Amino acid sequence: SEAGAKRRRVLLKLSGEAFAGGGGLGVDPDVVHAIARQIAVVVRDGTEVAIVIGGGNFFRGAELQQRGMDRARSDYMGMLGTVMNCLALQDFLEKEGIEPRVQTAITMGQVAEPYLPLRAVRHLEKGRVVIFGAGIGMPYFSTDTTAAQRALEIDAEVLLMAKSGVDGVYDSDPKHNPEAVKFDALEYSEVISRGLKVADATAISLCMDNALPIQVFELLTEGNIGRAVRGEKIGTLINS
Ligand code: UDP
Repeated sequence: SEAGAKRRRVLLKLSGEAFAGGGGLGVDPDVVHAIARQIAVVVRDGTEVAIVIGGGNFFRGAELQQRGMDRARSDYMGMLGTVMNCLALQDFLEKEGIEPRVQTAITMGQVAEPYLPLRAVRHLEKGRVVIFGAGIGMPYFSTDTTAAQRALEIDAEVLLMAKSGVDGVYDSDPKHNPEAVKFDALEYSEVISRGLKVADATAISLCMDNALPIQVFELLTEGNIGRAVRGEKIGTLINS
């Protein structure tokens, strides 16, 4: 995970929000296609890519809870939303000539394999892309935490956190504060102590405890996934 060194195996976390495109809800096929094209380039270049996709374009459990729903049930709805994103990306990766496999933490044999970490690693070794759906399969967790856990279990070198509409970590929200300053590098402890909105605290502490570097960058800029995979200094790099 040295800067400047091409990564052998990465875990790419894609925000669900990005999948919605301008529409805000559901899946915009044009956006998913563009993301698939970026991923196909790095896979053809020999990097092993595993993916976790969020579900914020469908449901967030905490938001449904605020509107009166049971939290655990809302979280299951959130997890099911991520699977639709996985299937959309699977489709466009296939169209790019890549062999994608979806593995879900909630079993649904008609649409995906169950989460089987050893098989996931075999897929990666054969040059297939593995897309992990349904989060970690448990309420009260996030897809960021899922991404950290999956990255660790499959021995990825780095967690690539691709965000939509923001090109790194800032000291305040750049959408609301024009004076916001971007960090090129951060320590895990600073992310937690400053309350920076990179990922939830569970995800950050999992990375910190296991020295898994996180690179945060903008997803929809053509070629950015490749830049991050090659270890170029884009966005914000978080480590100890
Ligand atoms: N979720 C969950 N457990 C998990 C992963 C996700 O309960 O392991 C639910 C949770 O309700 C969350 C929703 O799925 O709000 C969508 O995921 P997330 O908010 O992480 O998506 P993102 O914001 O990255 O698009």
